[in-house]
Amino acid sequence: RAKADGRGLHRFFEPEMAASILVRRTLEADLRHALPAGEFQIYYQPLVDIGANRIVASEALLRWFHPVRGLVSPNDFIPLAEETGLITPIGEWVLREACREAASWPEPIGVCVNLSPAQFRSRSLVQSVLSALATSGLAPQRLELEITESVLLAENHANLAVLHQLRALGVCISMDDFGTGYSSLSYLRSFPFDKIKIDRSFVKELPENHECGAIVRAVAGIGQCLGVATVAEGVETPEQLARLREEGCTQMQGFLFSRPAPAAELRRMLEGGCEKWAEAASAA
Ligand code: C2E
Ligand code: MG
Ligand code: MG
Ligand code: MG
Repeated sequence: RAKADGRGLHRFFEPEMAASILVRRTLEADLRHALPAGEFQIYYQPLVDIGANRIVASEALLRWFHPVRGLVSPNDFIPLAEETGLITPIGEWVLREACREAASWPEPIGVCVNLSPAQFRSRSLVQSVLSALATSGLAPQRLELEITESVLLAENHANLAVLHQLRALGVCISMDDFGTGYSSLSYLRSFPFDKIKIDRSFVKELPENHECGAIVRAVAGIGQCLGVATVAEGVETPEQLARLREEGCTQMQGFLFSRPAPAAELRRMLEGGCEKWAEAASAA
């Protein structure tokens, strides 16, 4: 590209580019220290079963409180953590911490933990999950591991084998961000998932967008046929909730019910009854 624009390679040394490389280097160096420095915290967001009107689980969502930048979004540092291999120790910490926290919640409320494809390459994943369960005492059925389609991309047999080993431990496996990959349906054939999370991009345009409504209905139908729970991500309005319920989604997650919140706040929600979901659900 640099050459094609006829100005030669000096284009690579434009100040903005140098600046962005520097930003990246600094962020990378900071990321290396974040875990030992205790800058990570896990927020939790409830998944509500709308039939039973109950919180069934909460998703662990990583937060980085950078001493200078403040809160850094996972979308801005998870990719960097994946490229640098730092996702392995960070991911292990999330697993341990989330299992420890969930063990203090009322049974049978579970915890969902996101796994990145890079963690599958590390080879220690099954051992990490096993040890997080053992040290926390959390029943394996209460741990849900969320993976995206990229884990199974190009019929990755090694990753598939790891998924089966994880399942053999008794944990649940969820397909996250369903519908955003290239051939989503084929992944449902390659592994018997416990749960399908319909990506927020489909929910966002409800109830107006007819196509999104039809897609959600089809996915919920597939879930029913396969005996797999379907979760709608990113539910923000009562109108969306009403439509999603109509289309047959069984669980909901989104700001309508709760934003991701610190562990202590979530514990208060779990202990203080569920008036808020009752409200949201009956409004719909
Ligand atoms: P995800 O697993 O699909 O998580 C759902 C994202 O949607 C979260 O963003 C959540 O805060 C957001 N969300 C939930 N409800 C709503 C809503 O009603 N409206 C809107 N606008 N957004 C909503 P978050 O916390 O920024 O995380 C982004 C992504 O970063 C996650 O997407 C996940 O892929 C990744 N991630 C987060 N924590 C971890 C982790 O511990 N390990 C790994 N490997 N990835 C993580
Ligand atoms: Mg997720
Ligand atoms: Mg998701
Ligand atoms: Mg997502």
